[in-house]
Amino acid sequence: MSILAVAEIKDGNLKKISKELASAGQKLGGPVNVILFNGNDDHANELFNAGADTVIKVDGKEYSPEGWANMISQIAKEKGAKVILIPHSVQGKDYAGRVAIQLSANLIADVVEVKGNSDTVEVKKPIYSGKAYANIKVNSPVVITIRPNSQEVLENYNSPKNIETVSPDEGTVKAKLTNMQQAEAGKVQLTEASIIVSGGRGIKGPENWPILQELADLLGAALGASRAAVDAGWIDHSHQVGQTGKTVSPNLYIACGISGAIQHLAGMGSSKIIVAINKDPDANIFKVATYGVVDDLFKVVPAMTEEVRKLYS
Ligand SMILES: Cc1cc2nc3c(=O)[nH]c(=O)nc-3n(C[C@H](O)[C@H](O)[C@H](O)COP(=O)(O)OP(=O)(O)OC[C@H]3O[C@@H](n4cnc5c(N)ncnc54)[C@H](O)[C@@H]3O)c2cc1C
Repeated sequence: MSILAVAEIKDGNLKKISKELASAGQKLGGPVNVILFNGNDDHANELFNAGADTVIKVDGKEYSPEGWANMISQIAKEKGAKVILIPHSVQGKDYAGRVAIQLSANLIADVVEVKGNSDTVEVKKPIYSGKAYANIKVNSPVVITIRPNSQEVLENYNSPKNIETVSPDEGTVKAKLTNMQQAEAGKVQLTEASIIVSGGRGIKGPENWPILQELADLLGAALGASRAAVDAGWIDHSHQVGQTGKTVSPNLYIACGISGAIQHLAGMGSSKIIVAINKDPDANIFKVATYGVVDDLFKVVPAMTEEVRKLYS
């Protein structure tokens, strides 16, 4: 029995979640096969280092949820894969359910921890908008979507480095993706970012984003926002973090002038370190913060930026 993972590529680069899936597959005992759609040898090598035993290359197939689901299911059957790991990304969410149906498998979405083995997988996933976690034991076959940035990535895994090139049948594709329009989402991808600097109503207006952007640029961070800031028209919705925005899981989340409403926490509560800057000592965000600063963000953020600049200069 084997583990099958699906890699994702964005703008020619292997997304970090692809490596996280390969590593998570090894935690379940492997061997790990990773499907790489339209990728190259560099991508395959990154996957080998992260835990892939075999990379299955599928070339020349454009994305369609049905087509990908058909091909993934076909490969899963051929490989006898009992656990299928898929990124909890926009695309992954699009085809994971279809794969589960085709394989008559269980489906568990938005998982942040995996352990066990390929017969019985134990997973942890946020429920009730991140208010609690559910620990679930599930028998294979199972399709699991994993939240980006939630898994440790193996380095220098001693892989046999098998590469297979296959051309599975896409089947009948009734819905085809004809065009993708990139939203204005800043320089760093929010869902993949390991650091996020996020602003809320406390930043007072759109003219103050540069204060946060400067810190974000120095840290190589993505810019996030609360819904209040988005609804006020201060920033595009693609930056919104929360229940009706993006779900993120960075190593460091810096919340500036954000009160910490439950709907915001739903999107960032699984961040590893949360730094909150808020004038109100009773703000809800301090309940989840690792470090909190009760002060005016217009004083604190520029001071942080200066300190970071000193570190990096
Ligand atoms: C169905 C539904 C879905 C929702 N989805 C989302 C979602 O996806 N994401 C989301 O974020 N919200 C969501 N919301 C909205 C959510 O309930 C809150 O209204 C929103 O998160 C509040 O944003 P905020 O923290 O920026 O604003 P506020 O709650 O107004 O908080 C602003 C904070 O800034 C602090 N502050 C003010 N000035 C300063 C200063 N100079 N320095 C430091 N601190 C300062 C204040 O003390 C306050 O705590 C949703 C609501 C509903 C009903």
